[in-house]
Order: sequence, then C-alpha cells, then structure tokens
Amino acid sequence: MNFTKTHFILLTFLLVTGQVASQNKKPGSYPIEPVLFTSVHLHDNFWAPRIKTNHDVTIPFALGKCKETGRIKNFEIAAGLKEGNFCTEFTFDDTDVYKIIEGASYAMQISKDAALEARVDSLIALIGKAQEPDGYLYTNRTIMGDRAHEWAGSKRWEKEEDLSHELYNVGHLIEAAIAHYHATGKRDFLNIAIKSADRVCADFGPDKLHIYPGHQIVELALAKLYVETGDKKYLDAGKFFLDVRGPKGDEYNQAHKKVVDQHEAVGHAVRATYMYAGMADIAALTQDASYIKAIDDIWEDVVSKKIYVTGGIGSTGNGEAFGKPYELPNMSAYNETCASIANVYWNYRLFLLHGDAKYFDVLERTLYNAFLSGVALTGDKFFYPNPLESQGQHARSPWFACACCPSNVTRFIPSIGGYFYAQKDKSIYVNLFAEGDAQFTLPDNKVSLEQKTNYPWDGDIVITVSPEKSSAFELKVRIPGWAVNKPIPSDLYQFEDKFTEQPKVFVNDQLTPLTIQQGYVSFNRKWKKGDRVRIQLPMPIRRIKANDNVVADKDKLSIERGPLMYCAEWPDNKDKKVLNLVLSPEAELKTTFKPDLLKGLYTIDGKGLSATRVTSSEVKTESTDVNLIPYYVWAHRGTGEMMVWIPDQPTAARPLPAPTIASGSKVSASTPRRTLMALNDQMEPKDSNDQSIIFYHWWPMKDTMQWVQYDFEKPSLVSTSNVYWFDDGTFGECRIPASWKLLYKKGEEWVPVKNVSPYTTLKDQYSSVTFESVTTTALRIEITSPKSYSGGIMEWIVK
Ligand SMILES: [Zn+2]
Repeated sequence: MNFTKTHFILLTFLLVTGQVASQNKKPGSYPIEPVLFTSVHLHDNFWAPRIKTNHDVTIPFALGKCKETGRIKNFEIAAGLKEGNFCTEFTFDDTDVYKIIEGASYAMQISKDAALEARVDSLIALIGKAQEPDGYLYTNRTIMGDRAHEWAGSKRWEKEEDLSHELYNVGHLIEAAIAHYHATGKRDFLNIAIKSADRVCADFGPDKLHIYPGHQIVELALAKLYVETGDKKYLDAGKFFLDVRGPKGDEYNQAHKKVVDQHEAVGHAVRATYMYAGMADIAALTQDASYIKAIDDIWEDVVSKKIYVTGGIGSTGNGEAFGKPYELPNMSAYNETCASIANVYWNYRLFLLHGDAKYFDVLERTLYNAFLSGVALTGDKFFYPNPLESQGQHARSPWFACACCPSNVTRFIPSIGGYFYAQKDKSIYVNLFAEGDAQFTLPDNKVSLEQKTNYPWDGDIVITVSPEKSSAFELKVRIPGWAVNKPIPSDLYQFEDKFTEQPKVFVNDQLTPLTIQQGYVSFNRKWKKGDRVRIQLPMPIRRIKANDNVVADKDKLSIERGPLMYCAEWPDNKDKKVLNLVLSPEAELKTTFKPDLLKGLYTIDGKGLSATRVTSSEVKTESTDVNLIPYYVWAHRGTGEMMVWIPDQPTAARPLPAPTIASGSKVSASTPRRTLMALNDQMEPKDSNDQSIIFYHWWPMKDTMQWVQYDFEKPSLVSTSNVYWFDDGTFGECRIPASWKLLYKKGEEWVPVKNVSPYTTLKDQYSSVTFESVTTTALRIEITSPKSYSGGIMEWIVK
C-alpha cells in the first residue's frame, strides 16, 4: 500500500469519516477539506431524531425488506447455500444490500451497535461466498448462467452500456466496503470490493474493453478506492470510464457527447448527477480543468432552468430525467429522492472545488425540502418521486420493486453531519446550522465549536469558539442566500416582497459590520476559549415568484421561511381541499409554533379566497383561511390535496367542481386506482398528454378489455357522454382506444345505449357521443386498447 499524505486528505473527504488533519496542499486534492461527520455531533431537535430513527427503524426495516423480497436469498443461491432461480425483479437489486451495509456502517460510527455489527458481518460473509473466484460479483449471472436476465446479456459486460448494471453494482459495493472498513477496522468486505475492482481493471481499459457504465456511480467509487489504497490503477479506471463515454450514445445516460463537451443537464437525473460528482472527484485528483469547466456550465444550467423551488431535480418521469429548460410541472414533478441525494453530493463537491457558499444555498434547499420529503417521520415509508402538488394520488410506500430510494436514504441520513463544516489551512467554514458541536485540527491548534440555535425554526445562532490555546485563525460563517434576498443563485426564483433588514453579526456581543464575500462573513482574529460569534438571520415569511418562463408557476407564489418551503395540505384547510385556494399578494401571514403537530413545527397562516365552480362558466370566490405546513412533512395524515405553488389571483385557481351528475357519482373501474378521481374532477386537460393534472390509466396492462363506471347519486336522465382519452405520445405506452362503447344499467343488467351519433376516438379533445336518453343509476364505458398498448382517461362528463 502506497499511502501518502495527499491520499489521506482525499480519503478524509471521500469517506466522510475520521478526523481531518492536513497542512500542506499538494496537487491532487480538493482545495477545501471536509470536516467529517464523526467530528460533528448534532444534538438538535431536527436532525438528531432523524439520525436516530434511521438507525433504530429505517436500517432494520430495510434489511427486513431485503430478506422478505429475496434480495438476500439471491446471495444465498449465488453462494450455493440454497437452490433456486434469481428471485427478484432487477439485476441491480444486489445494491440495496450494499447501500444498507454502508448506512449501517455510518450509523455504527455515531452510536455503537453490536447486534447490527454482527448482522452486517454475516451479510458480508455471505456476499464473499457469492463472489466468483475471479472477483466477478453479480448474483443474477452467477445464479442464472446462460439464462441470465434479459438486461444482463449472454456474457459478462455485454449489455453494460445498456441496462445490465454490472458496474453500478461494483460501484455501490466499493462505497459500502470502504465505509464498513472505516466503521469497524475489519478488512473482509474491503477485500471483496478490491477483488471486484481488480476484475474491472483487468477487463476494461485503453487496450481492453471500451465500454462505458450504463448507470454511473463506479467512477466516484473507484476514485474513493484509489484514495483508500493509493493504487493508481483505480483512479485510471475511474477516469477511463468518464473518457470512454460518448459521443455516439444516448442522452438518457449522458453518452450523447464526450463528458468534457457536455454543458447542459440532460437525461436520467440520478445517473447524470452521480457522474457530475464523479467528474468533480476525478478533476480534483487529476487536476483536469476540462471536467470542471463542464460541470460548472451544467450547474449553471440546472440552477437557472431545471431545479424546483424545493431543490428537487429531474422534472419528468419520462426517463426519470431532466426536463427541457423551465419545464417544471408541479403535479407530475418527478424529483426522485435519489436525485436529491445526488444533488447534495454534487453541490458539496463544487463547494470543495470553488469555496463559494452559493453551492450550499442549493444544497440546503435540497436537503431541507426535496430530500427530506422522501422519508416519513417514522422512517419506514418513502417517496420515490417528490411532487409539488397532489390531488391525493400520492402516498409514501414502505418499499418499491426498484428500491434505490429507501436504501439510499439509509446511507445518506447518518452522513448529514459531514456537510456542516469544512476547513482550509487556518480557515474554518460553518456551512449549515444546528445545535451541536464539532472538533477541528488546524495546522497549529485544536479547536472546538459549539452551535446553540433552534434552526431551522429560528435564525439566531450563537457559536462558541474554544481553541486549545489562544491563536489566530479565520472563522467563515455562511450567510444563506435566503437571508439576503437571493433564494437561489440565479434568476429562476426571486422574492416578490421587499424586505430590507440585514442579518446582524456580533463578536463577543459587539455588533460588527456585515461584509459578505462569496456568501461568507469572515472573522479573522486571535481567538481565545469562550469567544462567541452570534449571527442573527431574520426569518420573515417570504413570497417567492418563479421566472416568467416557468409556465407551471404562472400567477402563483410559493412561501418560504428560513430554509423551509411551505405547502397547503388538505387536513389544515376548508372543505379538506386546497387546489381551489388563492393567496393574495398582500394578505398578512403569521407563524405559530405547534409542538404537537407532526413532531413539532411552525405553521404559516393567512387570509385568502376559495374558488367554487357554480356552472361551467361561473366561478364564485369567498374569503377563507389559508393554512400552510412545511413541505417536508406533507403526506403524513392520509391522502388528499397539497400544493406548493399557490395562485395569487382567482383566475389561476382551480375551483371546486360544480355539482353535476359526474361529480356526485361513485367512480369504479376494472383496474381500480387512486387516480380514478381524475375522471370527475372537472380539471380541463390541455391535451391528451397533459401530465400537469391527474389522469387515470391502466398501464402496464395491455391487450385487455377495461371498464370504468359512474354510479349516480340518484336515478338521472342522460343522453350525452364526453370522454377525454389519455395518450402519452411517442415515449409512452398509453394510446387512444381502438374502440369503446357505452352501457347503462337496466335493473341488474348492463345494456348498450342506442347511439344517435357514432363513437369517435379523438386525441387532444373530447370524444363525444349522444344517445337516446335513458333514466338510469349507472353508466359504464368498455374500452379496447390498440394491440400492444395500454390506455387511460383524463376526464369523463355525462349529461
Ligand atoms: Zn431512487
């Protein structure tokens, strides 16, 4: 092992473990050094309970799910301990086990847990037995041989650029193994990962296989392994995987151009952002500025055009991808929880490269909002997408067939302390705020800092500085963008209201002039034990407006207080509805602390309007209270409406439906789903693929006869039916039906209506039919989809 000082500097960053101790910078590391989570102790009321819940609930729960779903059995079969076929759905299911071991390793560094350690040890022994003698580790092929998954191909690496995920599995294996080694000092898992990485290095390279990873992660993992072992072949392999990518592949996995020629964020958001983080690591290790230029440009593109006000990224479920510039729909917002985690990874690395607090303005927004929404307060339910609006079709789930998000949560939460501080020579950066303490080793001194604060509910932060001996050094405290009228470092979102009060800073109770450079206020002085810096960040309620180019947010505003975005949710509002609310720009808003609501939080309340449709052309409004909660905590009290972007004028509101035959009907279907509410919600589609509103579909079922049905409140005379079909275009699998017909209930029988006009199958408009009027209690549509396609409905009106 060739373990140098440079390696150590990077090691401390890359592992997010251990103490930072370095003085002289050499080429091949980040200019700014991390202060790792093991040096940071959070004892606040916001993050510390989350870290404990992750340890006590999420990790055991996720391990239980891995057992229940067959993920662990796959290793047992591959190891020859059990018989059978590969028993889960995806070739990357091995990685959930790796990620949970990684999370458990971090968690055990925060609080010892002998039982968890023993359980992890037995899993590692099993993984070792599942590994093939030459280092290849991929349970699907080991179990299935010639009959491997269709994604895996008939031989090793053959479909890597497509969907095999073989290198993705290796990437997560390496990350988990390094974490485990640092948590326990045991080398068994690390040795397994090294054997796998050696297989990769033997098979890929300039004079060997020229294949890029189909799903990125192995690049940053190999950089970690290089720093860990000092063996440059791993760095070379990580760099090779970046350089071999593009230009003849797809945008979907960022293979459409060479990575250094990429300047806009496109394609699958998690793949992309893991790659940008890997480019930052390899740029820092190799001093390759061309990677930095590319990711700097991509960052500008994301922050100016492709990020939600919650900090979520990846706006479209179509390919789990970045949308077009300013394409930020709210109800269909994808914002995968993994993409939020990856966005934190990437912005953190950009900060370490450039030292600007603007990256933390993005990181903090993502952390407190889009990411945190991804996991329930109880730690055992998760969102995969994190939308900004709901009609009640969204709920957190205990698990998913593709379980990347829950297992990613297990490893991310215990590492959060590692993002609070950083260090460069004799400068200490304070980047995030929470009650707790942290220890630093400066070139000539040891220092501890203690934060007293009730952040994120209050912007008053007192930092007590305790050097071992009195000495001069610099303390740089981030002044968040939201505290100086800059919610995000671009013109994508701006505060609409005027607020001129500046943050105040004090040293030992002496008010000090506020000078902000690169987002930091700097205190450069000789410190002695007990010196205190106090930062007072005013935390008024702010109204945010989106750039005019964001069509989805037109005539709407969103509400922020401190780092937290707020939303209106159904349990707190009149009629248990919110999408019909309007919040006028001048309405007075106030905060109230509710200690018993969802583990304690501040609500925001004010006066607004509620809109109700009286007839198809008439809407009435009346005064009402508008009550908001922090976005991260929505969807804890059952399913119903929620919105982040609230209309600020009645024309932008979606009125409560008018009483009609349809709105009073009970809706049922051959394929019942929560989205059936779309049929009679009186939300007018813009076209057959309008995913900004709720729609009902029966995908993935194809070549089936489907029906939907209205049971009326009372027997009604009907003679017209207008149905708006869902069709998700070129990339989707739902189409306008091949044919359909309408039946009414006569006694207990279903009888076809007698048509006056023919059945039509139109796209982007209603397909109407008139028929001889009947008095009935129920109507039913029977639908036949085109061959090999599925289908859906956006709205169904009957008269
Ligand atoms: Zn995910």
